[in-house]
Amino acid sequence: MPGLDLYSAPAIDLHQRACPRPAARLPYAGSPGMGRLSPARVEMHVLDNTQVERLEAEAVNSAKVRQPMYAARKKIFPKRATGSFRRFKWLVMAITLGIYYLTPWLRWDRGPFAPDQAVLLDLANRRFYFFFIEIWPQEFYYVAGLLIMAGVGLFLITSTIGRAWCGYTCPQTVWVDLFLVVERAIEGDRNARMKLDAGPWTARKLALRVSKHAIWLVIGAATGGAWIFYFADAPTLARELFTGTAAPVAYITVAVLTATTYTFGGLMREQVCTYMCPWPRIQAAMLDENSLTVTYNDWRGEPRSRHAKKVVAAGQSVGDCVDCNACVAVCPMGIDIRDGQQLECITCALCIDACDGVMDKLGREHGLISYATLSDYNANMMLATAGGSSSVNPSLVRTTDGPFSDKVAHFHIRKIFRPRTYVYMGMWSLIGLGLLYSLLTRDRLEVNVLHDRNPQFVTLSDGSIRNGYTVKLLNMIPEPRTIVVTMQGLQGGEMSVVGDDIKVGRSFAIPVEPDRLKMLKVFVRQPADQIQGTAQTFTFRVEDKASFESDEYTATFNAPETAR
Ligand code: SF4
Ligand code: SF4
Repeated sequence: MPGLDLYSAPAIDLHQRACPRPAARLPYAGSPGMGRLSPARVEMHVLDNTQVERLEAEAVNSAKVRQPMYAARKKIFPKRATGSFRRFKWLVMAITLGIYYLTPWLRWDRGPFAPDQAVLLDLANRRFYFFFIEIWPQEFYYVAGLLIMAGVGLFLITSTIGRAWCGYTCPQTVWVDLFLVVERAIEGDRNARMKLDAGPWTARKLALRVSKHAIWLVIGAATGGAWIFYFADAPTLARELFTGTAAPVAYITVAVLTATTYTFGGLMREQVCTYMCPWPRIQAAMLDENSLTVTYNDWRGEPRSRHAKKVVAAGQSVGDCVDCNACVAVCPMGIDIRDGQQLECITCALCIDACDGVMDKLGREHGLISYATLSDYNANMMLATAGGSSSVNPSLVRTTDGPFSDKVAHFHIRKIFRPRTYVYMGMWSLIGLGLLYSLLTRDRLEVNVLHDRNPQFVTLSDGSIRNGYTVKLLNMIPEPRTIVVTMQGLQGGEMSVVGDDIKVGRSFAIPVEPDRLKMLKVFVRQPADQIQGTAQTFTFRVEDKASFESDEYTATFNAPETAR
């Protein structure tokens, strides 16, 4: 299925063909000519005797007016939004921040021989602990598998509900939201912040700015601090950090993460998404005509008018958009969704909340801005433009009584289930099941054997032949074990362990520390009259008699031709 190119999507072409840019007919605040707002212009007007206020808001980050990359950033002052998507974002923000900050403090009892931190990247011992799972370096494929699952999951989410990752759970979005909470609490909502920003430096402004930046820095430090707690025992490291006894690398890491969090979340904000993040560019390949994206439904909104009653009285048709700019004012990316789909839109849906609030005041249906698919949007545009033969006439999508016509297309859940999403779901499930099966059946006891390279064999004084081996016993559980090593095959052969007081024989038991690799130097000897070739195979079998776990390694015993 072809990917959707956001810049040449048919819907935009149709819009431009059937509905010449509203800006050309009606001046609105998003027009390039509006310029930067002065405090005196931070005012509101009530539109057309309705409850709806018109906000002086400018889409400073939309592509048509955006500054060149190295020009000074035009500040965005997002207005506080209220509504169901905002509440959902609060919930996601609380959950994601809670997970990030609290996870290192969760404990998980693994017995006396392993750390009790539930999630720990133990770099010194090269282990990754995740609750009951312990990953050794040679099991890194589990981490790789999880990353692949995360990638495929992102493809799945994007192909169904667009950039939900960007709008709700991306760390940049979550931290910018958190920084905005602080900014609003200290400096007030949009108008107060704009006024403060444009006003002269006073003691009050200085105090507010210092307070805001100080709290931002504390959040940055807490973010960096939480990060390093994933790499060491959190209570111990916290104590060391505050008493000045932690390793220098801990302080450097906290300092770097404090600086990046403060810069990206507080100062750069939307610029990170617009200029630095590759995801907006990649996502276009994953969207198709049935992906949900935040959409301005101009098939019911145009022609927009701030004075609908006058326009209707003059016998002209008018859409639902009253050009109040509420959707622009709440946008954290500084764009106007009415310009169509844009790379800058992170689909946070706050403009949906803002517009739904306006529709409530006007007594009209929600959804002038909504999550919609391109296919539904195109169908409705065809309806509103009489098959593309005229500009948008919103009366064509309504019955004479006012409600929407039955012909208006609405999103149906079955659109989520289509070949592309089946493929993503199938891949995700297969990888997940494979990892789960491998995890549940993996060995926690392993043996590896290295034959001595030089010499390959030694002839002893009695004519018997001896080979040397390095036997590696891997105890991958956090408890001590006694491992029985037995040799199978090699007629008449016997083992002796160098440096250990172990009786020569075909089997011996040896203790292995918890969560450790034990290396043994083992000599295997075979009498000359038992030798049956220059390269005989036999097996080292290791077994934990308590858990009945076992593993085997097939080794080669070398002998000279003359020994037979
Ligand atoms: S789309 Fe909605 S919020 Fe935006 S200007 Fe029109 S009526 Fe106002
Ligand atoms: S246009 Fe709407 S959905 Fe897109 S970033 Fe702005 S507020 Fe969020």
